[in-house]
Amino acid sequence: MAVRRPGLIALFDVDGTLTAPRKASTLKMVEFMQNLRKVVTVGVVGGSDLVKISEQLGKSVIDDYDFVFSENGLVAHKDGKLIGTQSLKTHLGEEKLKEFINFTLHYIADLDIPIKRGTFIEFRSGMLNVSPIGRNCSQEERDEFEKYDKVHNIRSKMVTVLREKFAHFNLTFSIGGQISFDVFPTGWDKTYCLKYLDDFKEIHFFGDKTYKGGNDHEIYESERTVGHTVISPDDTLQQCTTLFLAS
Ligand SMILES: [Mg+2]
Repeated sequence: MAVRRPGLIALFDVDGTLTAPRKASTLKMVEFMQNLRKVVTVGVVGGSDLVKISEQLGKSVIDDYDFVFSENGLVAHKDGKLIGTQSLKTHLGEEKLKEFINFTLHYIADLDIPIKRGTFIEFRSGMLNVSPIGRNCSQEERDEFEKYDKVHNIRSKMVTVLREKFAHFNLTFSIGGQISFDVFPTGWDKTYCLKYLDDFKEIHFFGDKTYKGGNDHEIYESERTVGHTVISPDDTLQQCTTLFLAS
């Protein structure tokens, strides 16, 4: 068996990089990653929680990759074991959290948009995901909201209000996907996971949303990483072959 290159890790975003957005990874990708892991240390860093990442990358994901950082690394696994957690609840405290949630729910209640469903705020361990239409909507309703939002800027207006009102909470707001935006303490983007990678001199990061405003931007730009922009899982596969497997 080949000796793995010490001090080097290949770190991957999930959606759009290892899998099609919200889809499971293909058998081809699973096999590729198994081969790549023989040569370099591999890790994944996704914004979703471990349940969703496991649905996409497989039930054995924490054993299939050397590092699995769910929720941008707020939940960190190494060699199949949990090595760290951080939570919004601990960080902000119940009072501030309640103040924010109450204000946000009032804001949504007063919002006049064509349809509303349920789950307007999803509480995750490291962030709040806020959706004016509600996360329980169907795919069709999701598509309709996205179009409506492009014209009426529902999310960006809401973010402007929250950012000003809660400036002293030091929060970052990130509009992503079709129907929601994320709220988390500043610095809790994907660069958060780098605190677990001090042993690596060379961190190659692969992501599809590396542009400014994209959820891969900060880690892509970080001076600790060598950033690679990919346009699809197939592109990831090709770039990794050239970088790590061609000899
Ligand atoms: Mg992505």
